[in-house]
Amino acid sequence: MEELKGRYRAFMEAHVYPNEAALSREDDAAAALVSELRAQAKAEGLWAPHLPPEAGGTGQGFLVYAHLNEEIGRTVWGQLVFNCQAPDAGNGEILHMFGTAEQKERFLAPLVAGDTRSFFSMTEPEVSGADPTGLRTTARLDGGEWVIDGHKWFSSGAEDAGFGIVMAVTEPDADRHRRMSQIIVPADAPGITIEPVPVMGHRGRGWSTHCEVTYSGVRVPAENLLGERGDGFLIAQKRLGPGRIHHVMRWLGQMQRAFELMCRRALEREAFGGPLAEKQTVQNWIADSAADIQACRLLTLEAAHKIDRGDEARVEISLVKFFAARVLNEVIDRAIQVHGGLGLTDRTPLAAMWAMARGGRIYDGPDEVHRMVVSRRILKDFADGGTYRFS
Ligand SMILES: Cc1cc2nc3c(=O)[nH]c(=O)nc-3n(C[C@H](O)[C@H](O)[C@H](O)COP(=O)(O)OP(=O)(O)OC[C@H]3O[C@@H](n4cnc5c(N)ncnc54)[C@H](O)[C@@H]3O)c2cc1C
Repeated sequence: MEELKGRYRAFMEAHVYPNEAALSREDDAAAALVSELRAQAKAEGLWAPHLPPEAGGTGQGFLVYAHLNEEIGRTVWGQLVFNCQAPDAGNGEILHMFGTAEQKERFLAPLVAGDTRSFFSMTEPEVSGADPTGLRTTARLDGGEWVIDGHKWFSSGAEDAGFGIVMAVTEPDADRHRRMSQIIVPADAPGITIEPVPVMGHRGRGWSTHCEVTYSGVRVPAENLLGERGDGFLIAQKRLGPGRIHHVMRWLGQMQRAFELMCRRALEREAFGGPLAEKQTVQNWIADSAADIQACRLLTLEAAHKIDRGDEARVEISLVKFFAARVLNEVIDRAIQVHGGLGLTDRTPLAAMWAMARGGRIYDGPDEVHRMVVSRRILKDFADGGTYRFS
């Protein structure tokens, strides 16, 4: 594992960090550079480490991926270079788990090969995304085809994608967790419109845009249903659970990098007769950040270990999702404070990291919902006359 981690680190140092500024311009030259770096990563066998070899990746389980993703996540470009970025990573996982042989050949294979990109279209502007049981987009069967009508937004990456996976109500009379199904839709199907929505921290073109998508009488073959009718919510849970851990693994890289920048700057910068590192407030920030980052790391590794053992690790995932999102924001904020005005410029990666970090408290479930999940689970055990213990 250490050897593999070292290979990712060496690749990042040789090819990704030196190109960060060029990639951040997100122009045509940056797009060409992304393609070049992806080809190189693939040639070196550092490709799709979130997926097992039978799905076309180089993965060795969640725990190993947690270690690798901390390296990859140190720059926002890392996951794109190694083809393990959201939402493709989660889409690849559910296509591998629930797709038919034909769906795997048509959609999963080109996705893993890096020949296409995808989007996941669940959230809608008109109803709460935190409680997706109220979604309104519908799909009805007509002459062997699904006909989809609805309005989504935050369909990340849709502008650049070849296909999307759409959550739609197919069983309007069923229980609220059984009303929806997931359907694979080519991005160029007639009746789809895709409009990027500018989002804080995501300046983007195709690969990092968040899009408003309308579906007006969009027709796709009945065989594009992913899994069974009514399984949409279940598949979403299977996707979002590991997906949340993917995010936290990447955030660990961001936290660690911000922390290193903070420590170096504290030692170099002098004010009021000595280095910032000698001011107690700065020492407290360093100590608190070290403790918080290590707590996030251990919570993440524990959740990854449980997932590898076949456990859904719902409490662990929710716990680390809201805790790490807070730590991520706090550590980057402290690092910026230690850098003073420099921290707000583009001469360090901190300002861009800070702008992107804020979304972590909202996407894949806001903090409050994850706190609710954790506390409900704990209180249930007490209400049943027992006590809650982490196993
Ligand atoms: C950068 C980014 C990328 C995204 N990518 C995708 C994507 O690819 N595909 C996709 O489908 N969606 C995506 N989303 C959407 C995201 O998952 C939703 O924004 C999120 O689930 C919250 O839904 P909402 O925005 O509708 O907020 P709402 O549901 O309206 O909630 C608003 C606020 O209400 C509060 N709240 C909600 N429930 C509770 C509660 N039980 N207790 C206390 N307070 C509560 C929270 O503070 C919450 O922030 C993305 C979002 C962002 C920011």
